Amino acid sequence: MSSLSVPPPQCLLKSFTVPHRYLFGPGPSNVPPRILTAGSQPMLGHLHAETIEIMDHIKSGVQYAFQTQNRMTLVVSGPGHAAMECAIFNSVEPGDCVLVAVNGIWGERAAEIAGRIGAKVNTIWTSAGRYFGNDEIEQALSKYKPVLFFLTHGESSTGVVHPIDGIGQLCHKYDCLFLVDSVAAMGGSPIYMDKQDIDIMYTGSQKVLNVPPGTAPISFSERACNKIFSRKTKPVSYFLDLSWLGNYWGCDGKPARVYHHTGPVSSLYSLREGLAILAETGLENSWKRHKDVAEYFHASLEKIGLKLFVEEKKARLPTVTTIVAPPGYDWREITGYIMKNHNIEISGGLGPSVGMVLRVGLMGCNSNKTYVDMILEALTDALKHCHKSKV
Ligand code: PMP
Repeated sequence: MSSLSVPPPQCLLKSFTVPHRYLFGPGPSNVPPRILTAGSQPMLGHLHAETIEIMDHIKSGVQYAFQTQNRMTLVVSGPGHAAMECAIFNSVEPGDCVLVAVNGIWGERAAEIAGRIGAKVNTIWTSAGRYFGNDEIEQALSKYKPVLFFLTHGESSTGVVHPIDGIGQLCHKYDCLFLVDSVAAMGGSPIYMDKQDIDIMYTGSQKVLNVPPGTAPISFSERACNKIFSRKTKPVSYFLDLSWLGNYWGCDGKPARVYHHTGPVSSLYSLREGLAILAETGLENSWKRHKDVAEYFHASLEKIGLKLFVEEKKARLPTVTTIVAPPGYDWREITGYIMKNHNIEISGGLGPSVGMVLRVGLMGCNSNKTYVDMILEALTDALKHCHKSKV
């Protein structure tokens, strides 16, 4: 008789087939075969010479994608949230004042994360679909004198791309670090980390890079490193401590890399390939393709009578489009219908945009006009077949 009280689960004794689906929500995006193949290469030790070579290639790829020469450029083993916490946990000490620009869910979350480690959090707030002027930002910097200012480049919950020019200089005028979340925009909308005086920036693998979720590139300026490495207290997280991560990624100039955690080796193969595709495509070509495809999409949506949530054209995020939820319909029925009948994922709103919008992501290899036409056909079909009440 077996000594086990829990038998092997029946569900695991059968194979499971993952279906193909068009991932046109705000992420993850579809992973092209070339990246899937890269991720299925043989396992290596996480500190073997070849793995270190791959990590070095990744660092160069991230420096290119971010347009930075920062030595402290690496990848966090985890999703975008891990990079968010890495940025804030390392650069902020308890009692430090942090300023967060909130124009969607990502500012809300950054404020929550900073608050949890005992920072004094101040926010500037604007409604979903809008962004901040540099004068408003300067006023808040001069009022609160924060050590860190958080801004979201591509607000995936509202579909807004935030202008970046001039903000880094303002932050430095007030002796403040400039932190930018570019998870949903990097590779799809221009950003120049060094030229725009950004001190800390991170992204995620699962958006424009078309890499499976779970790795998050991040980079720190010299100015950020100076603050981080002269802290009085240790960062609250051992796992995300930049002195460990910087060594693990060979950014600290020390001859040996010391074991900190076991890096996600296969995910790094995939990430290397995603960055290779971006390098082959060229960053400027990638930005232009996302812009052209988004403009084509936006014009076509208006032609079928749908309204864009972000009124100002130049503030529309090219990677994630927000469409005003069609009046009289239940948005859940529309997304459900499109999934069931067209095998396409699009999503509803998030945070402040819940119930107000449909969100469509066209990122990396998904950013093309053929897919736009597919989505338009699916939306037109859904509007014909879903229940519409009188409005
Ligand atoms: N920031 C932004 C702008 C995002 O769009 C996302 C993911 N939707 C995140 C942060 C968090 O990334 P993750 O889900 O990989 O933790």
